[in-house]
Amino acid sequence: MLNIKGIYKTYGSGEGRVNALENINMEIQPNEFAVIVGPSGCGKTTLLQIAAGLEKASRGSVSLRGEIITGPGPERGMVFQAYTLFPWLTVENNVAFGPRQRGLSEKIIKEKVDHYLNVTGLAKFRKLYPKALSGGMKQRVAIARALANDPEVLFMDEPFGALDAQTRVVMQELLLQVWERDQKTVLFITHDIDEAVFLADTIYVMTRQPGTIKKTIQVPLARPRDHSILLTQEFLDLKKEIVELIWEESKQAAIHINHA
Ligand code: ADP
Ligand code: MG
Repeated sequence: MLNIKGIYKTYGSGEGRVNALENINMEIQPNEFAVIVGPSGCGKTTLLQIAAGLEKASRGSVSLRGEIITGPGPERGMVFQAYTLFPWLTVENNVAFGPRQRGLSEKIIKEKVDHYLNVTGLAKFRKLYPKALSGGMKQRVAIARALANDPEVLFMDEPFGALDAQTRVVMQELLLQVWERDQKTVLFITHDIDEAVFLADTIYVMTRQPGTIKKTIQVPLARPRDHSILLTQEFLDLKKEIVELIWEESKQAAIHINHA
């Protein structure tokens, strides 16, 4: 479905040169929930932006169903950590924005908007403006808005990173429900290991800079999942494995700083 092949990314030149990514390879299957986890600064956002066509790779290619991605497109939806709603549009008009841009009929637009407001629990809030919403509600609108474009792949860059712990849990469960219902391919980025294990079919653990894939882990936890699995031995074993992988990276980084 989504094929990331030999991606390298360098920012700047000379003294200021940063090798952000080195030889990233990923093959994401249709309807797969893929999660990239790694320490801050390891290149997660850079990789997602390249995969979404918003940033150019220095080397390598990304293809969707065999077609090379050269720029952003409606078949790829994005949800960012920062709330990116249009403040001058109501909830329903934020969700309707993409379908209107695509020139769909008002009848179809209304069906889509109704559907995604229902599945994200926003139906009652459709006439409100973003400034009247909590962070969790804003991110629900952002998810509904991305889904209303019928993307084949949904790219999510730490979408729940700014939410409090309780709201984050609710949003993770909601996202899995929507994903199970609508069968989307998702590439999700986080530095939160619990979040990665809870959501993923496949976890890609990244190294510190330059970012490479250190390990690919298949998550065998049964679906549908809810937060009761966070305390199961299976979950904790997987979490421990990833904590140790990332801890190795942080230690390396600390040694690096001490010697600098
Ligand atoms: P993450 O999302 O994992 O925290 P990023 O992809 O944001 O990491 O950044 C990876 C590295 O690339 C960092 O060292 C960052 O400073 C650098 N970087 C990111 N964007 C730019 C840019 N536009 N120009 C120069 N350096 C950048
Ligand atoms: Mg980032």
